[in-house]
Amino acid sequence: MIERGWLNCNQVVMLAPRDNVLVDSGYCTHRERTLQLLASPEGLDRQPLERLVNTHCHSDHMGGNAAIANAYGCRITIPAGEVKHVRPWTPQSAWMEQFDQRADPFHFDDTIAAGQAFEGGGLEWEAHAAPGHDMDALMFHEPVNRVLISGDALWENGMGFVWPEEGANPFIEAARESLATIERLDPALVVPGHGAPFADVAGAIARVRERLDAFARDPAKNARHVVKVLFVFALLDRREMSVADVAAYVGRVPCYRQMSRRFLGLDDEALAGYLLADLERAGAIVIRDGVARPTMAA
Ligand SMILES: [Zn+2]
Repeated sequence: MIERGWLNCNQVVMLAPRDNVLVDSGYCTHRERTLQLLASPEGLDRQPLERLVNTHCHSDHMGGNAAIANAYGCRITIPAGEVKHVRPWTPQSAWMEQFDQRADPFHFDDTIAAGQAFEGGGLEWEAHAAPGHDMDALMFHEPVNRVLISGDALWENGMGFVWPEEGANPFIEAARESLATIERLDPALVVPGHGAPFADVAGAIARVRERLDAFARDPAKNARHVVKVLFVFALLDRREMSVADVAAYVGRVPCYRQMSRRFLGLDDEALAGYLLADLERAGAIVIRDGVARPTMAA
């Protein structure tokens, strides 16, 4: 696994003679770095790549698909449920316009669905539904060694954000189902979409469940989490943003106003002030000379 940060997902490289497989491709603006890492001894070590498989089609997991397919001529496989989000390709494919994110348009060759499997590294990886963060996501489990490639369904300390809803929340329900699936698979090792691989799966699941319970009880808390995650992602993408521009930015990018109108009741100025103060207090950003910068790795 090539560990990246929070703008780019990790890349999982599976080596087998004439059948090298990569899971997930990172964010488009870092495509050169992704290609470099992929070719390095940490990745393919200059061997060919036959196939690229995506856990889900968010911009940080498929943004590098086009560059990698272009460099290697590999076949691309996406979860069957994601087809509707990337074909036809539009500015809102994979929610990009709503979130102010980017990805290079790519061509996929085939799809994989829950219950199907693919060969990687001489092993068979079973696809399981992993809805919640992305309702059409998959995770891949190798039952002999009990290794789970979880995408954004489970990290060591969290998971990809889920949409808030008043009352019954189908996204949180789905995320709980995905956690139950992971519990049933009982992996010895989880290789997540972000962060390091980990073995304390029960601990990770317990932490996420607690989080989801809190979000279900308090949708505004969930909405605050979503806007913070999206704003940090935007900062990682842009590297920095002038503090003076943040109110106009959250006014322009639809997801912030949607969250604010439904759950937070803050105008653009107040939302910008909240984001900057809270993220600075949490150590997620630093503000110096009127410029906000993220502290975590891209
Ligand atoms: Zn991700």
